[in-house]
Amino acid sequence: MYKPRINKSISPTMLKQYIYCPVIPWIINYYNVQEPPTYSMKTAKEKQEAKQGRGQIHIKTRTSYTVIDEIVEDKAKKTLIERKQYRSKSIHRYLAQTISAYLIARQKIKNIEEIIIDNGGEQHRIPITQEIIQQIQPLIKNLEKTLNNEKPPPPTTNTKKCRTCWYKKYCPYQ
Ligand code: SF4
Repeated sequence: MYKPRINKSISPTMLKQYIYCPVIPWIINYYNVQEPPTYSMKTAKEKQEAKQGRGQIHIKTRTSYTVIDEIVEDKAKKTLIERKQYRSKSIHRYLAQTISAYLIARQKIKNIEEIIIDNGGEQHRIPITQEIIQQIQPLIKNLEKTLNNEKPPPPTTNTKKCRTCWYKKYCPYQ
């Protein structure tokens, strides 16, 4: 019977990686490897000071872990902010990452009612609704299944991503 090398908690970053290519979190779990931080990741981290509210909040639950970039609070509600230093054409994977971060955060922080994704300076304000949560939950379940499966999931259909993929040397499809 397959036993993962490490018993990883599901993190929003893994969900973002899963959407980029489902094989990446499988490789991370199966081989216990992790891409070293790139220059842009390091500089993004250094610039992650909270602008208005509480920043860099570490939240750990029994099965999950996340770091929230910022929580802004007014009398009525709280807003969770996810900041990306570089603008991406699509915020789809950031949305999944941020909603899954919210699902972890809400276990410890009450009244978070909206998220803001700062996509390299372009702000997307998104109210949290049941509909949006229901779109993300199946992805989290699929990620869990992937991490507990000895066989790798089907790879991304966009093979251009493989050219620059750090995980290529471990990839069963290469
Ligand atoms: S090399 Fe391609 S298929 Fe393999 S993990 Fe990277 S992006 Fe996915």
